[in-house]
Amino acid sequence: MDVLLQYKALLVAMVLLLWLLLERLRPADHWPESRHKRYRRLGNNLGLWLINVGMSVLLVIPLTALAAGHGLSWRPGWWSGAGGLVLDIVLLDMAIYGWHVANHRVALLWRFHRVHHEDEFLDVTSALRFHFGEVLLSACARSALIVALGFPLQSVIVFEALVLVAAGFHHSNMALPPRLEQWLSWVLVTPAIHWVHHHAVREHTDSNYATVFSLWDRLFRTRSSFQRHSGMRIGVAGGQEQGIVRLLWQPFGKPP
Ligand SMILES: [Zn+2]
Repeated sequence: MDVLLQYKALLVAMVLLLWLLLERLRPADHWPESRHKRYRRLGNNLGLWLINVGMSVLLVIPLTALAAGHGLSWRPGWWSGAGGLVLDIVLLDMAIYGWHVANHRVALLWRFHRVHHEDEFLDVTSALRFHFGEVLLSACARSALIVALGFPLQSVIVFEALVLVAAGFHHSNMALPPRLEQWLSWVLVTPAIHWVHHHAVREHTDSNYATVFSLWDRLFRTRSSFQRHSGMRIGVAGGQEQGIVRLLWQPFGKPP
Protein backbone atom coordinates (compact mmCIF):
# COMPACT_ATOMS: atom_id res chain seq x y z
CA MET A 1 0.00 0.00 0.00
CA ASP A 2 2.87 2.38 0.81
CA VAL A 3 4.33 1.71 -2.67
CA LEU A 4 0.92 2.48 -4.25
CA LEU A 5 0.72 5.74 -2.29
CA GLN A 6 4.27 6.73 -3.30
CA TYR A 7 3.58 6.01 -6.98
CA LYS A 8 0.32 7.94 -6.73
CA ALA A 9 2.08 11.00 -5.26
CA LEU A 10 4.84 10.88 -7.90
CA LEU A 11 2.45 10.39 -10.83
CA VAL A 12 0.07 13.13 -9.65
CA ALA A 13 2.99 15.55 -9.07
CA MET A 14 4.30 14.90 -12.60
CA VAL A 15 0.90 15.48 -14.24
CA LEU A 16 0.28 18.64 -12.19
CA LEU A 17 3.69 19.95 -13.27
CA LEU A 18 2.68 19.28 -16.88
CA TRP A 19 -0.57 21.27 -16.39
CA LEU A 20 1.50 24.09 -14.79
CA LEU A 21 3.82 24.14 -17.78
CA LEU A 22 0.96 24.11 -20.32
CA GLU A 23 -0.91 26.97 -18.63
CA ARG A 24 2.29 29.04 -18.66
CA LEU A 25 3.00 28.25 -22.33
CA ARG A 26 -0.56 28.77 -23.57
CA PRO A 27 -2.68 30.75 -21.07
CA ALA A 28 -6.39 31.21 -21.81
CA ASP A 29 -6.72 34.39 -19.74
CA HIS A 30 -4.38 37.04 -18.28
CA TRP A 31 -3.24 36.58 -14.69
CA PRO A 32 -4.09 39.59 -12.46
CA GLU A 33 -1.90 42.56 -13.39
CA SER A 34 -1.26 43.59 -9.81
CA ARG A 35 1.79 41.83 -8.39
CA HIS A 36 0.34 42.09 -4.90
CA LYS A 37 -2.83 40.26 -6.00
CA ARG A 38 -0.84 37.59 -7.84
CA TYR A 39 1.44 36.82 -4.90
CA ARG A 40 -1.28 37.01 -2.26
CA ARG A 41 -3.51 34.44 -3.95
CA LEU A 42 -0.49 32.23 -4.64
CA GLY A 43 0.53 32.45 -0.95
CA ASN A 44 -3.03 31.67 0.16
CA ASN A 45 -3.43 28.70 -2.19
CA LEU A 46 -0.07 27.15 -1.31
CA GLY A 47 -0.48 27.93 2.42
CA LEU A 48 -3.90 26.25 2.58
CA TRP A 49 -2.49 23.29 0.63
CA LEU A 50 0.43 22.83 3.04
CA ILE A 51 -1.98 22.71 5.99
CA ASN A 52 -4.01 20.09 4.12
CA VAL A 53 -0.94 18.00 3.32
CA GLY A 54 -0.14 17.84 7.05
CA MET A 55 -3.73 17.03 7.90
CA SER A 56 -3.93 14.34 5.22
CA VAL A 57 -0.94 12.54 6.65
CA LEU A 58 -2.16 12.83 10.25
CA LEU A 59 -5.91 12.36 9.82
CA VAL A 60 -7.36 11.90 6.34
CA ILE A 61 -5.24 8.94 5.13
CA PRO A 62 -5.51 6.98 8.44
CA LEU A 63 -9.29 7.64 8.56
CA THR A 64 -9.75 6.50 4.94
CA ALA A 65 -7.65 3.36 5.52
CA LEU A 66 -9.66 2.61 8.68
CA ALA A 67 -12.94 2.99 6.78
CA ALA A 68 -11.74 0.74 3.92
CA GLY A 69 -10.68 -1.86 6.48
CA HIS A 70 -14.19 -1.89 7.98
CA GLY A 71 -16.24 -1.77 4.77
CA LEU A 72 -19.47 -3.79 4.75
CA SER A 73 -18.86 -6.97 2.74
CA TRP A 74 -22.05 -7.34 0.76
CA ARG A 75 -20.55 -6.87 -2.72
CA PRO A 76 -21.34 -9.65 -5.21
CA GLY A 77 -18.43 -11.55 -6.79
CA TRP A 78 -18.73 -9.80 -10.17
CA TRP A 79 -18.07 -6.43 -8.51
CA SER A 80 -14.29 -6.86 -8.44
CA GLY A 81 -11.23 -6.80 -10.69
CA ALA A 82 -10.79 -4.21 -13.45
CA GLY A 83 -14.56 -3.92 -14.10
CA GLY A 84 -15.16 -3.39 -10.37
CA LEU A 85 -12.50 -0.64 -10.31
CA VAL A 86 -14.20 1.21 -13.20
CA LEU A 87 -17.60 0.90 -11.47
CA ASP A 88 -16.07 2.13 -8.20
CA ILE A 89 -14.58 5.17 -9.95
CA VAL A 90 -17.90 6.05 -11.62
CA LEU A 91 -19.79 5.69 -8.30
CA LEU A 92 -17.21 7.71 -6.35
CA ASP A 93 -17.36 10.45 -8.99
CA MET A 94 -21.16 10.57 -8.73
CA ALA A 95 -20.84 10.75 -4.94
CA ILE A 96 -18.33 13.62 -5.11
CA TYR A 97 -20.77 15.42 -7.46
CA GLY A 98 -23.52 15.06 -4.81
CA TRP A 99 -21.17 16.23 -2.07
CA HIS A 100 -20.20 19.28 -4.15
CA VAL A 101 -23.90 20.18 -4.65
CA ALA A 102 -24.39 19.86 -0.87
CA ASN A 103 -21.40 22.18 -0.32
CA HIS A 104 -23.26 24.87 -2.25
CA ARG A 105 -26.74 24.27 -0.80
CA VAL A 106 -26.08 23.60 2.90
CA ALA A 107 -25.16 26.87 4.64
CA LEU A 108 -22.68 25.26 7.07
CA LEU A 109 -20.81 23.48 4.24
CA TRP A 110 -20.79 26.61 2.06
CA ARG A 111 -19.02 28.54 4.84
CA PHE A 112 -15.99 26.27 4.28
CA HIS A 113 -16.35 25.74 0.51
CA ARG A 114 -16.65 29.51 -0.03
CA VAL A 115 -12.92 29.82 0.80
CA HIS A 116 -12.18 27.78 -2.35
CA HIS A 117 -14.47 30.03 -4.40
CA GLU A 118 -12.95 33.27 -3.10
CA ASP A 119 -9.92 32.76 -5.32
CA GLU A 120 -10.13 35.69 -7.75
CA PHE A 121 -8.33 33.95 -10.57
CA LEU A 122 -7.99 30.31 -11.59
CA ASP A 123 -4.93 28.24 -12.34
CA VAL A 124 -3.50 24.90 -11.22
CA THR A 125 -2.88 26.26 -7.68
CA SER A 126 -6.66 26.87 -7.26
CA ALA A 127 -7.09 23.07 -7.24
CA LEU A 128 -5.04 22.98 -4.01
CA ARG A 129 -6.99 25.75 -2.26
CA PHE A 130 -9.41 24.24 0.26
CA HIS A 131 -10.12 25.16 3.86
CA PHE A 132 -9.02 22.35 6.21
CA GLY A 133 -12.58 22.23 7.57
CA GLU A 134 -13.90 21.28 4.14
CA VAL A 135 -11.19 18.64 3.76
CA LEU A 136 -12.06 17.14 7.16
CA LEU A 137 -15.82 17.16 6.53
CA SER A 138 -15.25 15.58 3.09
CA ALA A 139 -13.05 12.89 4.64
CA CYS A 140 -15.80 12.02 7.15
CA ALA A 141 -18.52 11.87 4.45
CA ARG A 142 -16.28 9.81 2.15
CA SER A 143 -15.35 7.40 4.96
CA ALA A 144 -19.04 6.76 5.71
CA LEU A 145 -19.58 6.00 2.01
CA ILE A 146 -16.51 3.71 1.89
CA VAL A 147 -17.90 1.70 4.82
CA ALA A 148 -21.47 1.55 3.41
CA LEU A 149 -20.47 0.45 -0.10
CA GLY A 150 -17.37 -1.51 0.90
CA PHE A 151 -15.01 0.32 -1.46
CA PRO A 152 -11.53 -1.30 -1.48
CA LEU A 153 -8.69 1.05 -0.53
CA GLN A 154 -7.08 0.53 -3.97
CA SER A 155 -10.19 1.96 -5.69
CA VAL A 156 -10.20 4.96 -3.35
CA ILE A 157 -6.48 5.65 -3.96
CA VAL A 158 -6.84 5.42 -7.76
CA PHE A 159 -9.91 7.68 -7.62
CA GLU A 160 -8.16 10.24 -5.40
CA ALA A 161 -5.27 10.39 -7.89
CA LEU A 162 -7.80 10.94 -10.71
CA VAL A 163 -9.53 13.71 -8.75
CA LEU A 164 -6.23 15.56 -8.18
CA VAL A 165 -5.24 15.30 -11.85
CA ALA A 166 -8.77 16.30 -12.99
CA ALA A 167 -8.99 19.22 -10.53
CA GLY A 168 -5.57 20.52 -11.66
CA PHE A 169 -6.76 20.28 -15.27
CA HIS A 170 -10.19 21.90 -14.97
CA HIS A 171 -9.01 24.75 -12.71
CA SER A 172 -6.01 25.42 -14.96
CA ASN A 173 -5.58 28.47 -17.14
CA MET A 174 -4.43 26.43 -20.13
CA ALA A 175 -5.96 27.24 -23.51
CA LEU A 176 -6.97 24.10 -25.33
CA PRO A 177 -7.71 24.07 -29.06
CA PRO A 178 -11.49 24.79 -29.14
CA ARG A 179 -12.37 21.64 -31.06
CA LEU A 180 -10.38 19.43 -28.71
CA GLU A 181 -12.00 21.06 -25.67
CA GLN A 182 -15.48 20.65 -27.17
CA TRP A 183 -14.80 17.00 -27.87
CA LEU A 184 -13.28 16.37 -24.44
CA SER A 185 -16.16 18.13 -22.68
CA TRP A 186 -18.54 15.37 -23.71
CA VAL A 187 -16.69 13.02 -21.39
CA LEU A 188 -14.53 15.07 -19.02
CA VAL A 189 -14.82 18.33 -17.08
CA THR A 190 -12.68 20.82 -19.02
CA PRO A 191 -11.46 24.30 -17.94
CA ALA A 192 -14.25 25.95 -20.00
CA ILE A 193 -16.85 24.00 -17.99
CA HIS A 194 -15.32 24.53 -14.56
CA TRP A 195 -14.41 28.21 -14.96
CA VAL A 196 -18.15 28.92 -15.29
CA HIS A 197 -18.55 27.30 -11.84
CA HIS A 198 -16.15 29.97 -10.51
CA HIS A 199 -17.87 32.88 -12.27
CA ALA A 200 -18.72 35.55 -9.66
CA VAL A 201 -22.43 35.26 -10.49
CA ARG A 202 -24.16 32.99 -8.01
CA GLU A 203 -26.46 31.45 -10.64
CA HIS A 204 -23.37 30.20 -12.51
CA THR A 205 -21.47 29.28 -9.34
CA ASP A 206 -24.40 27.00 -8.53
CA SER A 207 -23.93 24.95 -11.71
CA ASN A 208 -21.29 22.71 -13.34
CA TYR A 209 -20.51 20.73 -10.18
CA ALA A 210 -18.92 17.65 -11.77
CA THR A 211 -15.30 16.72 -11.02
CA VAL A 212 -14.02 14.01 -13.38
CA PHE A 213 -16.85 13.00 -15.75
CA SER A 214 -19.03 15.74 -17.19
CA LEU A 215 -22.16 13.59 -17.54
CA TRP A 216 -23.46 14.23 -13.98
CA ASP A 217 -24.36 17.87 -14.69
CA ARG A 218 -26.19 16.83 -17.86
CA LEU A 219 -27.92 13.94 -16.08
CA PHE A 220 -29.02 15.98 -13.05
CA ARG A 221 -29.67 19.17 -15.09
CA THR A 222 -27.11 21.39 -13.38
CA ARG A 223 -25.09 22.18 -16.51
CA SER A 224 -24.91 25.89 -17.31
CA SER A 225 -25.21 27.05 -20.92
CA PHE A 226 -23.09 30.12 -20.09
CA GLN A 227 -19.91 30.27 -22.17
CA ARG A 228 -16.64 31.09 -20.46
CA HIS A 229 -14.98 34.21 -21.89
CA SER A 230 -11.70 36.01 -21.33
CA GLY A 231 -11.83 38.64 -18.56
CA MET A 232 -14.95 37.25 -16.86
CA ARG A 233 -14.95 37.95 -13.12
CA ILE A 234 -13.88 34.98 -11.02
CA GLY A 235 -14.70 34.66 -7.31
CA VAL A 236 -17.72 35.27 -5.10
CA ALA A 237 -20.12 38.16 -5.75
CA GLY A 238 -19.40 40.84 -3.15
CA GLY A 239 -16.37 38.97 -1.80
CA GLN A 240 -12.69 39.74 -2.10
CA GLU A 241 -9.40 37.97 -1.48
CA GLN A 242 -8.12 38.19 2.09
CA GLY A 243 -5.00 37.13 3.96
CA ILE A 244 -4.61 33.48 4.94
CA VAL A 245 -5.31 34.04 8.66
CA ARG A 246 -8.65 35.67 7.85
CA LEU A 247 -9.46 32.92 5.37
CA LEU A 248 -8.79 30.25 7.99
CA TRP A 249 -10.97 32.02 10.55
CA GLN A 250 -13.77 33.07 8.17
CA PRO A 251 -15.99 29.93 8.36
CA PHE A 252 -16.12 30.15 12.16
CA GLY A 253 -17.08 33.83 12.27
CA LYS A 254 -20.09 35.81 11.15
CA PRO A 255 -21.08 34.88 7.56
CA PRO A 256 -19.73 37.56 5.17
ZN1 LIG B 1 -17.98 24.74 -5.81
